[in-house]
Amino acid sequence: MAYDDQNIFAKILRGEIPAIKVYEDDRVLAFMDIMPQAEGHTLVIPKAKAITLLDLPAEDAAYTIQIVQKVARAIETALDAKGIVLMQLSGEAAGQTVPHVHFHLVPSSIHKMRQHAAEMGDVEKIKANAEKIKAAL
Ligand code: AMP
Repeated sequence: MAYDDQNIFAKILRGEIPAIKVYEDDRVLAFMDIMPQAEGHTLVIPKAKAITLLDLPAEDAAYTIQIVQKVARAIETALDAKGIVLMQLSGEAAGQTVPHVHFHLVPSSIHKMRQHAAEMGDVEKIKANAEKIKAAL
C-alpha cells in the first residue's frame, strides 16, 4: 500500500490542520489525541512517511521510541500517572484508523481505558493536560 499524503496526520505535520502539540523536533511530533481513551492520551509520530511500524526505517523507529520515553516521563510527572499504556496499531486489521505510524501513550490501565477512537474529548480539558505535559518536558 502506498503512503497517502492526504491522511490526517500528514496534514497535521504540514500544518494544514491544527493539533494540540506538546513536543516537536525535526524528526518527531507529539500531540494530544482528540478522542482520548484517558485524560492525557498523547500520540507520538515520526515525521517519516511510514504507514505502519513495519514500514518505518529502523533509525526513525529507534529515535521515535526515545521521544516516546521522554513524553511518557513527562506524562507521569504532569498527571501523576501511576501507569501508562503504550499502544501501537499496525494495519487496519489491528484497528489502525490513521495510516501514518504512531504510538499511543495512554495514562490508564488496559482494563479501564475508554473505547478506541470513539468519542471526542473536551478540548479545554485536553489543552489543560497538554500545558501540564509541556511544562514537565
Ligand atoms: P489508530 O486507530 O491507532 O490509527 O489511532 C488514531 C488515533 O488518532 C485515534 O486515537 C484518534 O482518536 C486520533 N485522531 C484522529 N484524528 C485526530 C486529530 N485530528 N487530532 C488528534 N488525534 C486524532
